[in-house]
Amino acid sequence: MIAEKDKVVTFHYTLKNAAGDEMESSRDRDPMSYLHGANNIISGLEKAMLGHEVNDKFSVTVEPEEAYGVRAEDNIQRIPLKRLKGLGKIAVGQILNLQTNKGPVQVTVVKMGRFNVDVDANHPLAGETLTFDVEITDIRDASEEEAKHGHAHGPGGHQHD
Ligand code: ZN
Repeated sequence: MIAEKDKVVTFHYTLKNAAGDEMESSRDRDPMSYLHGANNIISGLEKAMLGHEVNDKFSVTVEPEEAYGVRAEDNIQRIPLKRLKGLGKIAVGQILNLQTNKGPVQVTVVKMGRFNVDVDANHPLAGETLTFDVEITDIRDASEEEAKHGHAHGPGGHQHD
């Protein structure tokens, strides 16, 4: 069985930036599962997955356009501190997960004021050329329900409330 449309693919990955620094890895937790062809993962990685089999190991380098996008330098937004109640103490450089009407968004705090916080709304990995070291651990047919929902269920996949 190969990674292709309507398959649920489970994989371990280690993510490095262009300097070779490790940014993130699934090795210290469960592997990740995604539904192929449903835009669950960044497009450059999904393209590289196509046609691979279980136990395949490979590396792929993805340009920002096919990863988390290019940085928009004017993407600084000012947020009232009272909107951030419940997030605890906030500091410059911290990454916040904000709920917006377009869904959850990750932003980086760039400036603290007395009543407001300036955040950089670029994704923390925007503008980065990323290399993924991938090992595929499982491939299976998607269930009808998964195909309908557009994501994988079960360990490493989407957890419903
Ligand atoms: Zn679902």
